[in-house]
Amino acid sequence: MSLPVGVLALQGDFREHLQAFERLGVAAVGVRAASELSQVSGLVIPGGESTTIGKLARIFNVFDPIRDAVKAGLPTFGTCAGLIMLADDILGGIDGQETFGGLDVTVSRNAFGNQSDSFEAELQFIGIGHPVKAAFIRAPIITEVRGADVRSTLEDGRVVAVSQDNILGISFHPEVTGDDSVHELFLREFVK
Ligand code: GLN
Repeated sequence: MSLPVGVLALQGDFREHLQAFERLGVAAVGVRAASELSQVSGLVIPGGESTTIGKLARIFNVFDPIRDAVKAGLPTFGTCAGLIMLADDILGGIDGQETFGGLDVTVSRNAFGNQSDSFEAELQFIGIGHPVKAAFIRAPIITEVRGADVRSTLEDGRVVAVSQDNILGISFHPEVTGDDSVHELFLREFVK
């Protein structure tokens, strides 16, 4: 891997993702400009607030370049709000809310209710050989999976992780529990 991994650094917990890659000994940089997209080996879209990330991406003129780069095959990993940004269809969006798309799924925003409904869980995850510690924070749920593969579900069967071609999308925050195994999977299987 010659280029660093990029983390979209407009809003949300991009710093925690940069730290996760640092723990794994992998170079990572914040991305705020379209010109930086050709200088990264992959892109993380972090958790935060999808409406804000979308608006800031327009203001910073990176919205179309990111959508095009994802479509062109840039390895991309969306967590929570980042998953929402990578879904082709969303439920519970604000009027006119846009996504980059790429994952042929429907994602329902704030599917667990409000902030007080945040929780942690240990998940089985296809491609990871041990339970993953996951923090769900005003998390979305993947309510319909069409062209993507399911990678993880809650015990009740609700889908919380999918992948499709160059894209990995998860409902939860892996970067706040100190469990870096999903970042490791992204590097191993998608960035290569
Ligand atoms: N509820 C947020 C949204 O809709 C996502 C929450 C998160 O990223 N932790 O964008």
